[in-house]
Amino acid sequence: MKLAFLGLGNMGRPMAINLHKAGHEVVGFDPAPRASQRLSDAGIRTAPSARTAAEGSAAIISMLPAGEHVEALYLGDDGLLAHLAPSTLVIDCSTISAESARKVGAAAVARGIGCIDAPVSGGTAGAEAGTLTFMVGGAAEVLERARPLLEQMGKNVFHAGPIGAGQLTKMCNNLMLAIQMVGAAEALSLGAANGLSPQVLSDIMKRSSGGNWVLEKYNPVPGVMDGTPATRGYSGGFGTHLMLKDLGLAQENAVAVRAATPLGSLARSLYAAHCLAGHGDLDFSSIIRMFLKS
Ligand code: NAD
Repeated sequence: MKLAFLGLGNMGRPMAINLHKAGHEVVGFDPAPRASQRLSDAGIRTAPSARTAAEGSAAIISMLPAGEHVEALYLGDDGLLAHLAPSTLVIDCSTISAESARKVGAAAVARGIGCIDAPVSGGTAGAEAGTLTFMVGGAAEVLERARPLLEQMGKNVFHAGPIGAGQLTKMCNNLMLAIQMVGAAEALSLGAANGLSPQVLSDIMKRSSGGNWVLEKYNPVPGVMDGTPATRGYSGGFGTHLMLKDLGLAQENAVAVRAATPLGSLARSLYAAHCLAGHGDLDFSSIIRMFLKS
């Protein structure tokens, strides 16, 4: 199947590579020359624009930073949707607001194009290993058309509800993850300040009531766990600025639905301060630098 993959960053690149390995003819596009070059280096064709990449493609998969990028890509007279055949499948995997997803979904439906929001969990390691979890919003029949492609990039595909529901699910998940990371950073730093080994403390907490995904898969202390962003200077994972974006989405939503999210609000401020201190491009687990004595 010919596929266009738009957005070739930390997540998009390995996802595109997995589709290529599964035998599809993938054409990538990213306005950042370095991202584009890195896909070419993996032997995959890139195009000079999103429209060129999309020409003749049976499906478009996008993995962009934020809602404004997704809306600018798909909507408007010059947007991609205006130029796609109705048989095209649109799968947006970016993490954006449910409102943005609904806008894109409604514009697609108006043109008879099948569209789902399919944000992911699992990080760059999950993207590389093809073990992502997809949280899908959209019509069940469109999900079934997309499922074979999603299963070539991930191992769990959940139908969360109508268009936008994938994004709402992802928003709740990342609210939890952001808080969990601050909690793990705080506990590990307190242990270290008392002379405990972060490795031993992590091993014990993993098998105790403090156990969680961060300790299992994404330990924020350098050297404790192989392959984590912490072991490579917090590069190449999930940027703190992206986590800040996600916590902003959760706060805006909480205001709209009058929900109480006190820890989410505090976590957003902590990640915002970390970004203001110049660490926005580092992986979000670098938040531990706020707590750990250097
Ligand atoms: P990234 O910044 O590494 O990559 C995003 C890429 O999109 C960049 O290379 C950028 O140049 C490109 N881009 C911007 N506008 C574009 C356009 N119009 N067309 C094509 N490409 C365009 O970000 P990432 O870490 O890959 O994250 C992408 C999305 O996935 C975000 O919404 C993020 O919240 C979400 N996400 C990331 C992770 C993670 O661990 N990194 C995990 C789950 C979800």
